[in-house]
Amino acid sequence: MPTPPACDTLVPVLGDQLSPELSSLRDRDPATTVILMMEVVDETTYVRHHKRKLAFILSAMRHHAEALRADGWTVDYVRLDDPDNSGSFTGEVARALTRHAPARIAVTEAGEWRVAAMLEAWETLFGVPVAILPDDRFIASHADFDEWANGKSTLVMEFFYRDMRRRTGLLMDGKKPAGDRWNFDKENRKPAVADLFMPRPLAFPPDAITRDVLGLIAARFPDNPGSLDRFDYAVTAEQAQAQADNFMRQALPKFGDYEDAMLTGERHLWHSILSPYLNAGLLDPLDLCRRAEAEYRAGRAPLNSVEGYVRQIIGWREYMRGIYWREGPDYVHRNFFGNTRKLPGFYWTGETDMHCMKEALDQTLDTAHAHHIQRLMVTGNYALLIGADPFDVHLWYLEIYIDAYEWVSLPNTLGMSQFGDGGLLGSKPYAGSGKYIDRMSDYCRRCRYDVSRRTGEGACPFNALYWDFLDRNEDKLRGNRRLAMPYRTWDRMAPAERAATRAQAAGHLQSLDEAGDAGY
Ligand SMILES: Cc1cc2nc3c(=O)[nH]c(=O)nc-3n(C[C@H](O)[C@H](O)[C@H](O)COP(=O)(O)OP(=O)(O)OC[C@H]3O[C@@H](n4cnc5c(N)ncnc54)[C@H](O)[C@@H]3O)c2cc1C
Ligand code: SF4
Repeated sequence: MPTPPACDTLVPVLGDQLSPELSSLRDRDPATTVILMMEVVDETTYVRHHKRKLAFILSAMRHHAEALRADGWTVDYVRLDDPDNSGSFTGEVARALTRHAPARIAVTEAGEWRVAAMLEAWETLFGVPVAILPDDRFIASHADFDEWANGKSTLVMEFFYRDMRRRTGLLMDGKKPAGDRWNFDKENRKPAVADLFMPRPLAFPPDAITRDVLGLIAARFPDNPGSLDRFDYAVTAEQAQAQADNFMRQALPKFGDYEDAMLTGERHLWHSILSPYLNAGLLDPLDLCRRAEAEYRAGRAPLNSVEGYVRQIIGWREYMRGIYWREGPDYVHRNFFGNTRKLPGFYWTGETDMHCMKEALDQTLDTAHAHHIQRLMVTGNYALLIGADPFDVHLWYLEIYIDAYEWVSLPNTLGMSQFGDGGLLGSKPYAGSGKYIDRMSDYCRRCRYDVSRRTGEGACPFNALYWDFLDRNEDKLRGNRRLAMPYRTWDRMAPAERAATRAQAAGHLQSLDEAGDAGY
């Protein structure tokens, strides 16, 4: 038998590091490197992940290991059901050190504080040099973000985004933004109408590897939320690229127009559904933006769509990551309003008669995905209006969405959606009455509640809850200039109307308490 090659470097590759160009692998010699990939129980259970999310990540990891082997790498892969599996990254690295006796460990930095602390402990724990390398799949490094943020009293995403445009050259004509404007958001808030020619994402039937994983998840995590039925996510870089091609061709041209729209039964609209692949490393963010720009330059997609798409990625996505690392591990405990209510049980079952909530929740439980406005203005808005504990809301989003990793989920959920940080990410809370949902969707027309009414039997719950939210949090919000108008409207209401609105909201909240099925 040939002697196995001496292992000079052990490279642990984590579940969201499925990129061939990973910093820890770059310029390394496959002959003297062992890649360690680990399915560990700690990572599958730190929250009760949606079954589909677990299946996607494990299947994508197993496919990635195959691709790395095909490229000539030695991959030591530890499966979840391996009887000797210690259950943690640190335990598995310890076991791998005895198997391979490497001279050093090299690893790309982790995507969250919890795992970063593990990696930082390894050098002392194991007495082996550990190089923790920057994750340069992101465009802005931690230092870049800090340099931009330092000394600023408010961290306005739009200005960060403009810097990123200048830096990457994306959609720039010399020193000027393409079309002479940085932002085409005003053109982008149209409601949509369903038609037969709406784009559809590709479906990828499970292969043998995925079928194995689906069996494992069904057996090991039967009580986790969500469904595994008709699993059809991409699980390889090639499939993810095919999905990206499909998006560029079919959906990008109208992405901007209908970015904020919602329609009954239409789960994808003109969204890309590429976030799971971007966040796991199967797609490269800058590459996607360049491809989108090429569609604009070739005249196949209008600027409002391409600019909107590029802004989501080099703007919001990078900005959220910057905020996550800048604010530190305690960010997760911020609770500006001091909210304590538990999330209602229907967040895990979809059993509610509010049509907008049911659409967003059913879709989420089926597919582990919902688009931005559903997350922000439906499920997030409702949680904010009922005064749900932002930490619990964070846990729900982290467990339920296929693209949820703490660096991106936490600032979006606790920060943007729940205003838990008191306005670091937005100048006012994303709270809205039924009117907003009615404007952007066809949901209200199909709902048993009447969106035009605030009080009385059958009135839309979002309406009374919205005004009650403003009233309840008056001491914290009245001074906010962007809320001056709604407070003026509230002040102008007759006292009896205000009292009826408060009573209507209290009745709704009481019904939640009486249901006795709250989560967590
Ligand atoms: C409460 C809440 C929680 C969220 N949690 C997550 C999460 O865990 N993971 C996640 O990737 N996104 C999260 N988002 C942002 C956004 O909803 C998703 O990125 C988007 O729905 C993914 O679907 P898509 O790929 O079709 O996106 P598209 O609508 O096609 O957008 C294009 C891309 O832009 C990026 N993007 C857009 N908005 C954001 C944003 N606010 N933050 C970061 N990236 C963004 C995504 O990579 C996305 O693929 C959250 C938003 C809210 C309001
Ligand atoms: S009427 Fe209210 S509860 Fe019903 S869909 Fe509209 S916003 Fe949602």
